[in-house]
Amino acid sequence: MDETRRCPRCRAELPKTGEHFETRKRANGSVWWGYCRPCLRELSREKYRRMRADPERAARDRQRRAANARRWRNRNRPAVAASHARWYETMRTDPERVAAYNARQRMGFRLRREQATGSLEVGHFPALYEPYKAAPNGSKAGQMLDAGPLVAWLRDRFPGWTMDEIAEVCGIDEAGVRRLLNGQYRRVSLHVADRAFVNAGAPHLLAILYPLREAAVA
Ligand SMILES: [Zn+2]
Repeated sequence: MDETRRCPRCRAELPKTGEHFETRKRANGSVWWGYCRPCLRELSREKYRRMRADPERAARDRQRRAANARRWRNRNRPAVAASHARWYETMRTDPERVAAYNARQRMGFRLRREQATGSLEVGHFPALYEPYKAAPNGSKAGQMLDAGPLVAWLRDRFPGWTMDEIAEVCGIDEAGVRRLLNGQYRRVSLHVADRAFVNAGAPHLLAILYPLREAAVA
């Protein structure tokens, strides 16, 4: 029988694999084992609820974490640069990872711009963030995607959440979430899928779950 492991939080005994537990690699190459996946989802849900209850504190926490990370990177510059260079060299040899990386860069750029200017306007460099494109106002036109990958991700990412909680995190309306999860929608617009991923903090998933080949199906 395969090796099992007890979650230090809920005490559930599960197969000792990365599928069932959070793992991290230590600097010396050994593996650190954390809580079970259901506990991680519960903690992430609790965290989201705390943040929703006190958005000002959530913003302060975010700033503090960003400042700590910046300080750490500044103190460890050569190691950070070497690690980044290694990561980049591996990444650029894999076309799929390059595509995901480019999409992430575009969306990050667009999100930063929106945060800075409060504007959704495309500005002077549309090619930089082309994939994050709103359908024309009041129009049903625009690219339609197979709803399957988005629905599978919603189920996996938000197990046991209420429709309105999912709707709020993803920035899509509650009726839409219900119809997606009920299987009433076979197709979903690129705009809605993209918005859900971006709002849920996973903008790179659009490129991963909907590679360009598939997104090109009108
Ligand atoms: Zn657990």
